[in-house]
Amino acid sequence: LRWDLTIAFGYAHGAARHPDRPAIVDDGGALTFAEVDERTTRLAHGLRDLGVGAGAKVAVLCRNHRGFVETVTASVKLGAHVVLLNTGLSAGQVATVLREQDVAVVVADTEFGDLLADAPREVHRLVAWVEGAAGGRTLEDLIASSPTTPLPRRPPRGRMVVLTSGTTGAPKGARRPEPASLTPAAALLSRIPLRAGDRFSVPAPLFHTWGLAAFQIALVLGATLVLRRKFDPALTLDDARTHRSDALFAVPVMLQRFLELESRPALPALRVIASSGSALPPPVARRCLAGFGPVLYNLYGSTEVSWVSIARPDELARHPDTAGRPPRGTRLEVLDDDGRPVPPGVTGRIFVANDMLFDGYTNGSGKEVRDGLMSTGDLGHRDEEGLLYVVGRDDEMIVSGGENVYPREVEDLLAALDGVREVAVVGVPDERFGQRLAAYVVREEPGSLDADAVRDHVRDNLARFSVPRDVVFLEALPRNATGKVLKRELA
Ligand code: ATP
Repeated sequence: LRWDLTIAFGYAHGAARHPDRPAIVDDGGALTFAEVDERTTRLAHGLRDLGVGAGAKVAVLCRNHRGFVETVTASVKLGAHVVLLNTGLSAGQVATVLREQDVAVVVADTEFGDLLADAPREVHRLVAWVEGAAGGRTLEDLIASSPTTPLPRRPPRGRMVVLTSGTTGAPKGARRPEPASLTPAAALLSRIPLRAGDRFSVPAPLFHTWGLAAFQIALVLGATLVLRRKFDPALTLDDARTHRSDALFAVPVMLQRFLELESRPALPALRVIASSGSALPPPVARRCLAGFGPVLYNLYGSTEVSWVSIARPDELARHPDTAGRPPRGTRLEVLDDDGRPVPPGVTGRIFVANDMLFDGYTNGSGKEVRDGLMSTGDLGHRDEEGLLYVVGRDDEMIVSGGENVYPREVEDLLAALDGVREVAVVGVPDERFGQRLAAYVVREEPGSLDADAVRDHVRDNLARFSVPRDVVFLEALPRNATGKVLKRELA
């Protein structure tokens, strides 16, 4: 294994070692490492003809397919920077990002054509995946019409700009310091049994740090990426069966969809189901372990700090709500407001240090840093064993009548109540108490549960001030493209 590999050389390395191994399997068929290496060299030449050189910016607005992977790879082969656009952004947000980032070329699927409506005129547009009416130059045209002449061996390093999902405000561009390197992948492997030549099913969106990590780990390991443009739980599991996937990279809401299927194929090759991106509800963890066996890993992290804690199946079996322990090379501390470590069982703010911390947002701001440790923006505690429990973002903590309530504690309790499919708890302004709790509940069946049953369940299990005064039943919770609940919308 080559930890010093970068995305720029990942496919070239794979092409030299195992040229005929499939690198990508997607809705268009399979491509080997040799093919992806050649195609991305051609694409790099094509992009250069459009004016993309070292330091220029290429944006991708794509679903999970070869066009995404190849655009990223071809761009970093030129030393260009890549801006990963979240497909859940609005046309206005896309236009703002393209302008602020001074993007030269945007590569988009035809289905996201509307999102480019307000894009600045001078940005070149390329079509990645054609669905419905085409129009404009496609990646395939560019690949087919460009030469395979080798590129310079050592391009300057391209940066990766990953947009945070914007659940807490406008999407922020997080710059990665060593963006094209694959070191984030290395650290994860100290706690997850992934191996060289594995097959990875990746339904998690590639534009999000989590999907991007799967891609990076795949390059380190020479693994095959099994991708689908659209997430369909039955299809994903069926692919995992057909391609004998060793690992599946998902976000928690996808796991929930797998568990809701009437029947699931047997997956004897599956060694790892890795969940990240948002909190894993304990009932989902429990049912996943029961349904798929001891293969579930819960990874806690963010766009800014990468993965700072991982729970393994045995830890989740004992504590379905844990985020586990830090991987090799990561220091994690839970600190009080004065910056002192808190004892086990006491909730504080989570700070971390590793060599994968981002180096600031593209607007120049950063995250709080104390003694070399960066704030994750989350609150949590550890138990006597050292296992971490993330209770939620510090800005989501509800102060009701002077008492601190962590919404996740109430959510986890309610998620386990019979008749509840999904739940989110937020604080809403209250004249008397400052804030009061509102629970938004999606029921298994309409009428299976009423508001009093919800309140009684909390009253029986938690403190009085944790009881939601408002209980609202919804058909579905509003979620972003990575499946995270949009709490601001609820509030
Ligand atoms: P924005 O910063 O714009 O709101 P975002 O925070 O949604 O975007 P991410 O960086 O993907 O974008 O989210 C990271 C956050 O998600 C973490 O800080 C944490 O609150 C939550 N999170 C991620 N994984 C887990 C996990 N395994 N357990 C608990 N919380 C998690």
